[in-house]
Amino acid sequence: MIYDRILITAEQLDAGIETLAQQIDSAHRQTEGLLALVLLEGARIFADRLLSRLSFPVETEYLKISSYRGGVKSTGQVELNLPAALCEKIQGRPVLIIDDIYDTGLTLYSLAEHLRQYKPGSVKTCVLLEKQVPHQKNIAIDFLGFSVEDVFVIGCGMDYQGQYRELPFVAALHPKQLG
Ligand code: 5GP
Ligand code: MG
Repeated sequence: MIYDRILITAEQLDAGIETLAQQIDSAHRQTEGLLALVLLEGARIFADRLLSRLSFPVETEYLKISSYRGGVKSTGQVELNLPAALCEKIQGRPVLIIDDIYDTGLTLYSLAEHLRQYKPGSVKTCVLLEKQVPHQKNIAIDFLGFSVEDVFVIGCGMDYQGQYRELPFVAALHPKQLG
């Protein structure tokens, strides 16, 4: 068995993503030039589903940063290498960071801090899941989908060693998978 329990069903995910899209729509319909920064790989499927429901145009950039690197524990180190063209683009723009999970908070915190030097007009965050853990770094989440307990999750774009992103629900990885 790959997964232990389903934590969020496909129907719940769909409704949750729709609600988030409506919230972002209300907040940003009138904003010019929203720039979405999608954190790869985990947030790609979530962001595709979310952004396709917005009623206004968004510019989307994908960034590969994570503190996990294939394992199930945060490495505590976040690597940030933003392409120069992207850095230039940020100045004066409203930026929406989209990630899959707020866990230790290191990823979101480090990125939000790093972006400041490029003088964005504003920075907001949108996250599908928040883990119910004491975060090492606290950061305000402007648009949050769901809270989940502290287990390793897969599905809706989230993987275990590159697998299970395609699951249409969010499930807890079976502890046996971790050996
Ligand atoms: P943080 O920097 O907040 O600790 O970590 C956030 C990143 O770690 C997320 O963007 C996500 O890619 C990864 N991550 C954290 N928890 C999980 C999990 O339970 N499952 C998967 N697949 N990735 C996770
Ligand atoms: Mg990630």
